[in-house]
Formats: sequence, C-alpha cells, structure tokens
Amino acid sequence: MRLAIEQARMGDRRPGAGEVGCVIVRDGQLVAAAFNEAELRHDPTAHAEIVALRRLGEQWKTTEFRGCTLYCTLQPCGMCTVACLWAKVSRIVYGATREDVHSMYFDTRHFSTVDLIHDAFRDDIQITGGVLADECSKLYYRPQDDPPPQEQKNR
Ligand SMILES: [Zn+2]
Repeated sequence: MRLAIEQARMGDRRPGAGEVGCVIVRDGQLVAAAFNEAELRHDPTAHAEIVALRRLGEQWKTTEFRGCTLYCTLQPCGMCTVACLWAKVSRIVYGATREDVHSMYFDTRHFSTVDLIHDAFRDDIQITGGVLADECSKLYYRPQDDPPPQEQKNR
C-alpha cells in the first residue's frame, strides 16, 4: 500500500494526472504500478487500476491475473471493480473507504462497490478495505470538505 501511495503522490504532482495510486503484486513481487491518467490521456477509463491492469496485460500477454493482489489508495469505482472481476484478480486491497473521503470520488451515492464483489459471478475474489486508511485519506478531500466545482467529477 505504501507503494500505491507513492504512485498517488506521483500522479498528484504530474499535471493532468490524478492522485489515485495502484500497484499489482504477485508472489510478493511488484508487477505493475500506475496512477490515474484519465485527464492526461483524455481517456475516462484511465483510472489507476485500469492503467495498471493494461500494463500488466501488455507485459504478460494475457487477460487473466490469478494470484495477483491489486492495491489501490482509494476504494475502486464500479468500472475498476468489475475490471478486476474480469481480469481474475485474486484480491483487491484498498486504503481510503467511501466513509473517509468526499462523495465526489464515487460514481454512485449509495451503492458500494464492495457489494459488486459479494454479488459477483466469482466467489474466489477477496476485497479488503481500510488498509492505511488514514494515510490514504490525506490524499483526498474529506467528507466535510467543500471542493471547488471544477474539481468535482461526478456532478
Ligand atoms: Zn475506477
């Protein structure tokens, strides 16, 4: 998770990139790392998790990542959660939860992506949230903050 936080900080410093970081690990080895590149690439799907999965797919020439754990600084959105399901990722670990950050970071107001995993077609994927949550939360606007409208993606 500390490596994911490092990615998030790199994303935050790079103009056009975003402050969400992600790493993928298998057998204790870092196999992919990314930050949000949506604005940078003019690609709304270029969330950190998707960028990391694409990088790994290109490297391994596969679309299945069994045995991999994906770490993300923020609870993955619906798109990224379902991408992990299709990619056969074994475990998702995230830092800041929906309760820790402003609602602008989520695609729905009430639906938690954790439910997607519980209702998924796979029962061999685990999801764990709140790892280094305090540290991860500091990367984002908090629930009580009033972010500028131009920064709110889900308006
Ligand atoms: Zn996402």
